[in-house]
Amino acid sequence: MAKGVLLILCGPSGVGKTSLSNALLESRQRLSLSISYTTRDRRGQEVDGVNYNFIDEDEFLAMRKSEQFAEWAEVHGNYYGTSRQIIENAWREGRDLLFDIDYQGARQLKEVYPEATAVLVAPPDLETLEERLRGRGTDSEEVIQRRLAAARHELKQYALFDYIVENKEFQKAQQVLQAIYDAARHSRSVKRRWLEELLECGQ
Ligand code: 5GP
Repeated sequence: MAKGVLLILCGPSGVGKTSLSNALLESRQRLSLSISYTTRDRRGQEVDGVNYNFIDEDEFLAMRKSEQFAEWAEVHGNYYGTSRQIIENAWREGRDLLFDIDYQGARQLKEVYPEATAVLVAPPDLETLEERLRGRGTDSEEVIQRRLAAARHELKQYALFDYIVENKEFQKAQQVLQAIYDAARHSRSVKRRWLEELLECGQ
């Protein structure tokens, strides 16, 4: 089976990761979002099977026990996980996958799939991140302080990542992310099968 690109996108809350991931998905047809399993409650407009597969804790623990997850993590008191099946299906169908997951998940995916491309989205500085978190106007001071501490912790994990994209200007960050994805399409692990077939035909 030919391998597709596995593009992992991480970054602290408020950094603009969701907007960047949506823009990339719109501009690159071959790429689709890996839909995670989660035990957290559905929010507002979220649709089961589109944003997440919403399951209860018993179902999650059963899937974990039967080793159906390529990675899983507990984030803000809820479980999140990526099924192995979604990766196999994508590769069989010739699709690439984008993972919007936390750094714990990125670490595990890189262990199972070392050829995955891991990107950390970083704010230009912590003051800007704080302004963005406050700008949402929905969170209490305590929540904002907790998110800022979590952001520092996440950014400290930079050694896990192949690329670090500074999101100062959205357009620029989007272009950099597109370039990273486009380059990953030409990585050895993705192109290997194609080149092997080319050589077999020539014999
Ligand atoms: P939210 O609940 O706000 O959608 O996501 C909370 C955090 O969980 C985000 O950092 C998101 O990237 C992360 N997350 C979402 N799905 C997964 C997953 O399947 N695995 C891991 N490790 N993290 C996830």
